[in-house]
Amino acid sequence: MLQDPVLHDPAPSTPNDVDVAVVGAGPSGLMIANLLGAQGLRVTVFEAGPQLLDYPRGVGMDDETLRTFQNAGLVDAVLPHTVPHQLLVFVDARQRDLARLAPPQAEFGWPRRNGFVQPLADRVLLDGLSRFPAVEVRWSSRVTGFTQDVTGVSLSVEAPGGENRVRASYVVGADGGSSATRKALGLSFEGTTATSNWFVIDIRNDPLGRPGAYVCADPRRPYVSIGLPHGIRRFEFMLKPQEAEELAMTDEFVTRLIEPLVPATARVDIIRKRVYTHHSRIASRFRSGRVLVIGDAAHVMPVWQGQGYNSGIRDSLNLSWKLAMVIRGLASDHILDSYESERREHVRAMVDLSTWVGRAVSVTNPVVAGLRNAFFRSLSAIPKAKAYIVTMRFKPMPLITKGALTTVGSVSVPSPVGRLFIQPTVSTRTAASVRLDDAIGPWFALIAWNNNPREILDDDARRRLARTGVRLVTARPAVQLPWEDSGEDGADDEVLIVGDLDGSLKRWFDGHPDSVLLLRPDRIVGGASPAYAASSMVRAFDAAVGAPDPGQPAPHAPEHSTTTPLPAI
Ligand SMILES: Cc1cc2nc3c(=O)[nH]c(=O)nc-3n(C[C@H](O)[C@H](O)[C@H](O)COP(=O)(O)OP(=O)(O)OC[C@H]3O[C@@H](n4cnc5c(N)ncnc54)[C@H](O)[C@@H]3O)c2cc1C
Repeated sequence: MLQDPVLHDPAPSTPNDVDVAVVGAGPSGLMIANLLGAQGLRVTVFEAGPQLLDYPRGVGMDDETLRTFQNAGLVDAVLPHTVPHQLLVFVDARQRDLARLAPPQAEFGWPRRNGFVQPLADRVLLDGLSRFPAVEVRWSSRVTGFTQDVTGVSLSVEAPGGENRVRASYVVGADGGSSATRKALGLSFEGTTATSNWFVIDIRNDPLGRPGAYVCADPRRPYVSIGLPHGIRRFEFMLKPQEAEELAMTDEFVTRLIEPLVPATARVDIIRKRVYTHHSRIASRFRSGRVLVIGDAAHVMPVWQGQGYNSGIRDSLNLSWKLAMVIRGLASDHILDSYESERREHVRAMVDLSTWVGRAVSVTNPVVAGLRNAFFRSLSAIPKAKAYIVTMRFKPMPLITKGALTTVGSVSVPSPVGRLFIQPTVSTRTAASVRLDDAIGPWFALIAWNNNPREILDDDARRRLARTGVRLVTARPAVQLPWEDSGEDGADDEVLIVGDLDGSLKRWFDGHPDSVLLLRPDRIVGGASPAYAASSMVRAFDAAVGAPDPGQPAPHAPEHSTTTPLPAI
């Protein structure tokens, strides 16, 4: 059992073995290890199991997660395991549509709904770590205890060769829904557990072959049928109270369940199967001193919006750059509190939505099911309501009102600060067509429409941005790209010029009087202002993250170029 951590004065200080110890090699732990590794940090991932989990789990990846894989340099490796723009249809017992989700938009650079196979995406994340010499994964290594003090955390790890002691500056508990890290911190996990279990089966050589995801709200037995990459079909069936796990795992029971969908004569190759219970729970806190919890360790939700996996990836991205800044001495430790204040409300909205959809799907009373069906049909008859559902405008998007950001200087109403910035395809002087994030790099960027940021910022603001490693970017219509306006010889290595290829950036700035944006590594707008107020905005952002005085050198200068593309795996 992990020990209750108590902050106390450290023993005579020795340098910590690693900057960050990650507990758990699930998708949340592996993603944060990649993002921290890309920042040159020393990271060890401890995984209790001997290898990656091979359960039938996440099947829906959203646009924000694909953008995070892009940030981690792994999107090309994961795309082959996805079905872009996967249709999701809720149908009644007679296969008639109740709701159809097919969002056409890709404003963040990627399709909003993508089918995927979690064990294959997890493998991509694991392989990605081989790019970083300072990142290590230790298998069959269960973290059994830790104590923390003012300079770090001492972990006890049970491994095949015996118990090890490891000292880390910070610990990220990514150890899943029954997280021992969360329990050791004494955090409660409040919420509810659904009364019915679900039986989840992955089959190869898909006997149906359709590409979409179908949720059949049949009150006799609700089920899910999803076409996945590589000829895989996912079935999920609601179990009745008397159907115990031992019964569900028998071949006869599986045959009986899928026979109405796949004739008994058809070949059925089961890859993996598992009984699963849906929980809706959130930890009382996400941080205690130098230990933070992410992913399922911090929150669990029913699968109906496919947001358990995606929420863990959001946590990893939100926390990774803050840890990197603190460890490099670019921000004060209090910025880590903003991980919880920025993530909790969004997670709560996802848990509530997923729980509500789950209750609607799992109705077993035929009269209630009839009323539900009538309600959804009447919504579909109203064009505006139908469009709202089809385009998934009901999906809660991150909107951060309190955290590592500033509204000082922002004059747009509503302010773009705290919202995710768009990702159009742009051009640069060296690339005819490139996604914005790939052009500007995975770290901070200051983007000014029409202006050269170097010319509109004062010396102090420029020094602050240079210390943090912020990329200076000017955005302008693509036709203006060849205009050599900067420096005596027309060259300005300090400023990246991006060309607005399809008008998306101009449309965005047309809608916002703030013409200068400070983009955080998670692509949330951290500050915004008209050109005349950009320097004050930069200073206010520094104050919000507790950046040291710009006259002082950062204790740990960035060890690598934050704009260099990461190596492919
Ligand atoms: C049937 C099903 C369908 C789903 N569908 C979707 C979907 O469509 N979309 C979606 O977004 N999400 C979905 N999810 C949820 C998603 O799978 C999880 O949210 C996700 O795997 C959580 O990742 P994680 O890294 O936080 O935790 P986990 O994947 O649970 O990983 C935790 C890891 O920590 C390790 N560990 C535990 N304790 C210790 C310890 N003391 N020391 C060291 N290691 C330890 C475990 O062995 C494990 O490897 C689904 C889940 C299920 C079951």
